[in-house]
Amino acid sequence: MNGPALILVDVQNDFCPGGTLAVPDGDRVVAPLNRAAAAFAAAGLPVLASRDWHPPHTAHFQAYGGLWPVHCVQGSAGADFHPDLQLPAGTLLLSKGIDERLDGYSAFDGITAAGATLAEVLAAQGVDHLVIGGLATDYCVRATALDARERGLAVTVLIDAVAGVDLQPGDSDRALAAMHRAGTRLCTTDEVVAELARRGTAT
Ligand SMILES: [Zn+2]
Repeated sequence: MNGPALILVDVQNDFCPGGTLAVPDGDRVVAPLNRAAAAFAAAGLPVLASRDWHPPHTAHFQAYGGLWPVHCVQGSAGADFHPDLQLPAGTLLLSKGIDERLDGYSAFDGITAAGATLAEVLAAQGVDHLVIGGLATDYCVRATALDARERGLAVTVLIDAVAGVDLQPGDSDRALAAMHRAGTRLCTTDEVVAELARRGTAT
């Protein structure tokens, strides 16, 4: 049976206020994502969580030619998920940014502890629709949504459960526009939770 899955992208301390690469108001995504994750879990649908999981030396960091300050180094407190994030039992973890030569923005670049890719996990679970929230709108959320569309999945981005870096003003808005042009649906967490409730009563 085909159906949707939820992926929480990089809701980690370093991307939240107080972190080394804090997204403005990054922690505002936590409450809606907790609601979404609980609704997916209650409906028996898959929940996945990606995390940026960098080695200390990577071409992704400014000191080694990259764009970014040091963040989400493997095993550091900054790489931990936000303490208020409630991952349902059975949430599948994907680690990305492990390759020191690559940025690893997309969750499709991530692997599970068992070494499976996101594409393999989704195929095995019959997922044809990826619902996405998390950080940051203009990098990892954008890359994940566009990759999912290229792979033929339906994609929904939870507009109240994403936040962007906006290195250049307007980057997040441009990212949302690019995702929309690629066929991504943009809607609120409450809309998706209500759809799941209707789906539950219909079966
Ligand atoms: Zn990173």
